[in-house]
Amino acid sequence: MILRLILGDQLNPLHSWFREVREDVVYALFESGEELRYAPHHRQKMLAFLHGIQQFAHHLRQSGHRVEYWTLDDPRQQGSLRANLEALKHELSSGTDLEIEYQEPDEYRVDQALQGIGTCVPSEHFLTERGTLATHFAGKKTYLMESFYRAMRVRHGVLLDASGQPEGGTWNFDSDNRASWDPKQHVPAEWRAHHDVREIDARLDRHEIPRWGDALADDFPWPCDRSESLALLNHFIQFGLPLFGRYQDALAEGQDFLFHSRISFALNTKMLHPREVIEAAETAWRHDPETYPLPAVEGFIRQILGWREYVRGIYWAQMPEYAELNYFNHQRPLPDWMYTGKTQMRCMQVAVGQSLRAAYAHHIQRLMVVGNFALLAGFDPRELDAWYLGIYIDALEWVEMPNTRGMSQYADGGIVGTNPYVSSGAYIHKQGNHCANCAYSVTEKVGARACPFNALYWHFYARNRPLLERNPRVGMVYRTWDKMKPDHREALLEHAEFNLLNINKL
Ligand SMILES: Cc1cc2nc3c(=O)[nH]c(=O)nc-3n(C[C@H](O)[C@H](O)[C@H](O)COP(=O)(O)OP(=O)(O)OC[C@H]3O[C@@H](n4cnc5c(N)ncnc54)[C@H](O)[C@@H]3O)c2cc1C
Repeated sequence: MILRLILGDQLNPLHSWFREVREDVVYALFESGEELRYAPHHRQKMLAFLHGIQQFAHHLRQSGHRVEYWTLDDPRQQGSLRANLEALKHELSSGTDLEIEYQEPDEYRVDQALQGIGTCVPSEHFLTERGTLATHFAGKKTYLMESFYRAMRVRHGVLLDASGQPEGGTWNFDSDNRASWDPKQHVPAEWRAHHDVREIDARLDRHEIPRWGDALADDFPWPCDRSESLALLNHFIQFGLPLFGRYQDALAEGQDFLFHSRISFALNTKMLHPREVIEAAETAWRHDPETYPLPAVEGFIRQILGWREYVRGIYWAQMPEYAELNYFNHQRPLPDWMYTGKTQMRCMQVAVGQSLRAAYAHHIQRLMVVGNFALLAGFDPRELDAWYLGIYIDALEWVEMPNTRGMSQYADGGIVGTNPYVSSGAYIHKQGNHCANCAYSVTEKVGARACPFNALYWHFYARNRPLLERNPRVGMVYRTWDKMKPDHREALLEHAEFNLLNINKL
């Protein structure tokens, strides 16, 4: 007899496990109090995972498989995944030999917790193995995403012409994908699922599982099974992909999703496979290149074939040490408004407020608004990691941590990024229309009305000069700083210090 564990982020009905129905196989799905408590998560994130697990258990039963699905209410509950599995093994195995199998976990914590319990099989989800990135960059100090991405294009034959060269004559169309927001632009209607997850919400209440963010338990919009995930993907290909590239870096008032796909939750729970997403985008371009411009399609595919596989490889190459990295030794606790959205900085108010309301912010909000401010202000990366891991619907440590510590906070000292992603208010102003509604003035550098990003930008570079000035990508910043009049430099630093002292009131 075989007992097979299915984790909450392994809801892939196409896995080879399910090709045949076997009497001697029992599938186990658990709501685990330990997993729900190890970090405080957004309500919608918990509801999405638990509803997804429930739907998957239902799907397997309908398909004829033997299923053990324990909710938090199940009297046999032991709390942790491992203890539940052992208890179930004990229950099922009286008099029979019973083997445990599980799919390779993506999170280091879970991988450790399940060591030695049974046979680990591939999850069949990614386009690389855990160790592929480390092998690709063996002997190199930095892991350049672009070189990995090009190798992935070749290995998987994606967007190549007949001679094996990149379609359109170049590998990367990033420079075409940076338009600022045009408020006259029509944004496609949002795709929404409709679930009633009040019962799960009540269960979480009963078990006093800590959570934050808005609930939306009576009309839950996230895809929770494969057919909904495919519907969301089709909606994106039809309506979002054509302008995905152009507005990829845009910031817009009143638009939560712009032309972004929102498929990260479906991908990370494995309801969608990255290969089918990439194929859908490439096929759209091959059939109708006028509607689907190559820069948009290449830009979208790069996120999945490149960034997503790359950050996973970084995670497995660097854990567990990666979780301790703090290159700038930043220690500042997060201000209260990171948990309420009540700040006067309009861009932060929108990004944090939306994250609390929708459990979602698009990449440029995560990177160049929230992450940017966090790095300028020197937030403690451990606390910030917990914030990102908790708040977003798609947050799993293998993808959240390299993005937060690495790409966004440069806390890894340059493993993921060649230089810190920081900007003054000018970048946020250029990319969108938040500044028009802000209590601060983006053009002022010091004084009560000055946009806090402006002085903090210089404060960040000044205080971290010993760690950054030899980086060729930031040398120009120090040349500009050195050319400023000393009293202007002093005023900027003083104003930044004032902002940091009063950070809860910004
Ligand atoms: C500080 C920070 C934290 C992040 N945390 C997470 C996280 O916990 N989980 C997560 O899935 N993504 C994370 N990202 C990456 C990215 O912001 C999200 O994948 C994206 O915003 C999800 O929305 P979407 O599906 O509409 O993406 P789209 O913009 O439509 O992009 C399509 C897909 O590409 C993939 N992708 C895009 N950028 C990245 C990236 N940098 N790393 C990995 N995959 C990427 C995602 O699967 C995404 O669904 C983070 C980025 C930053 C800067």
